[in-house]
Amino acid sequence: MSAGTRDRILPVAGSARLRAAVLGELAADRPAVAAMLALNAAAAGAGLVGPWLLGRIVDVVADGTDPDPLRTIDRLALVVVLSTLVQIVLSRIALGVGYRFGERSAARIRERLLDRALALPPAVVEAADPADLISRGSTDAGVVASALRRAVPEVAVAVVQVVFLVAAVLVLDPLLGACGLLCLAGLGVSLRWYLRRARSAYLHEAHTGAALAGTVTDTARGARTVEALALDHERAAAAETAIGAARSARLRTLSLRSVLFPSVDVALALPVVGVLLAGAALGRAGLVTLGTVVAATVYLRQLATPLDTVMIWVEQLQGAAASLARLEGLAEVRVPTAATAGTPRDDRIEVREVHHAYGGGPDVLHGIDLVIRPGERLAVVGASGAGKSTLGRLLAGLDRPRTGAVTVGGVPVADLPPDRLRAQVVLVTQDHHVFADTLRDNLRLARPDADDDELVRALDAVGAHRVADLPDGLDTVLGREIPLDGARAQQLALARVVLADPHTLVLDEATALLDPRTARGTERALASVLAGRTVVAIAHRLQTARDADRIAVLDEGRLVELGTHDELLAAGGAYARSWRSWSSG
Ligand code: ADP
Repeated sequence: MSAGTRDRILPVAGSARLRAAVLGELAADRPAVAAMLALNAAAAGAGLVGPWLLGRIVDVVADGTDPDPLRTIDRLALVVVLSTLVQIVLSRIALGVGYRFGERSAARIRERLLDRALALPPAVVEAADPADLISRGSTDAGVVASALRRAVPEVAVAVVQVVFLVAAVLVLDPLLGACGLLCLAGLGVSLRWYLRRARSAYLHEAHTGAALAGTVTDTARGARTVEALALDHERAAAAETAIGAARSARLRTLSLRSVLFPSVDVALALPVVGVLLAGAALGRAGLVTLGTVVAATVYLRQLATPLDTVMIWVEQLQGAAASLARLEGLAEVRVPTAATAGTPRDDRIEVREVHHAYGGGPDVLHGIDLVIRPGERLAVVGASGAGKSTLGRLLAGLDRPRTGAVTVGGVPVADLPPDRLRAQVVLVTQDHHVFADTLRDNLRLARPDADDDELVRALDAVGAHRVADLPDGLDTVLGREIPLDGARAQQLALARVVLADPHTLVLDEATALLDPRTARGTERALASVLAGRTVVAIAHRLQTARDADRIAVLDEGRLVELGTHDELLAAGGAYARSWRSWSSG
């Protein structure tokens, strides 16, 4: 992974936040957790009866003092059968409760993820690696959900069983029990060895997986460019590097597992051996009966099953914990709130000493200083690649400048929470998204509390009566069935602007996609949207510039001229030269 990619990865939660998240999940569903524990405890208690009675049966036989040993053995055996049945039924019910808890918890985690992703400031989303955010929402959420569905209930059953079995061995005969349990120490050693290495190994596996998905998606998305520029070798090499990184990360976790599992198998067999050896010695000294040794051996043998379950799931839970850390990491992104951002004191936008670069690359804006007066129309012109769109994105708070400040009423625009930002500055580009949802909800993105009258007025204001003529009016589901053409999508975008009602608009080729007739219609509509607002128009046609109050000329990331059309013509600089060549051509 290159340093550049790593920079763009969103935060990952530390162990304190992870613990808090897990405890929070348990606390959010207390009745289910309590029921799960109680049922498991009852099941494990019932499970202890069998081996203990088995010991009694052995003692009855060995003792030879019972007048009717067969009857006693029959009665005891019947109780063994009944207690085993009770244990099976109770653990099934406990598992059911656990599975339902897991489902609810997985749903809560997904909802929280969605809320957090939607609350991320635009500047953070733009700067983050899209593959990272997507794999958190898909792969990581899936891994956590499946762990919650199965691992948590089954581990709960197993852990309670372990606690009861350990207690039973110790109660049965403290000395013998202690000998057996001491032999379990090996398990602790191998588990500790594994856990120390597992967290970082699994996190690395998740990161390399996300990076691989990102590389492949980028190549697929840019297939035409790859083909046109004959970049296949570069892209194949990039994919191979990503595959190599993902492969070595997987091999690392695999090697951890291949040490863990065999050592666990050996560690689980040791207590039985220990108890038999100690039992023989203690029995000869007359300190324990044969029945007690049998019962203790069976308890320790039974310990292997739940411990095995725990070990298997510990491995999966490590992967799930790494995924949960990535989901919870979103909570660590500083989300601006009305309180932290402060309130803009007026509508004045100031750009101070702004330098900006994309993703650690060279600066593409160099020390821009600009004050946009409320109500003015400012055209930004310059050659392609001069930095016009970049300036537009900074003005609209979509990116945070590398150094310097872009403020509205004294508050950095990129610090404003999304709903506040929308009411200040909105960027209108050619790139509008129409969601597969009703027209109403598509419009309400801009102002969630708008009523139907306001929505219709907004559509009217941009001349989009045709949009309102759709089969089910505002209830029409757009998207797959009723795709909007470029012109209609643009009208929808402008109607959203009317609803958001910002005091400043940044237009980046807002009408360039439209055919000339629609463009005129939309420009008229645009005029009504623009009235009374501050407008920064990124002008790709000089004609647009002439009508502006002032013109800012960018050249290779520097603001080289600023003034009215007449002033700049009189100055005889870059703008005057382009204007003369354009108007004579
Ligand atoms: P203009 O709008 O004037 O054509 P831009 O603001 O789009 O100019 O681009 C300014 C410079 O920034 C160009 O050199 C361009 O290659 C670079 N640039 C623009 N967008 C990105 C991006 N997302 N990542 C990296 N470089 C970018």
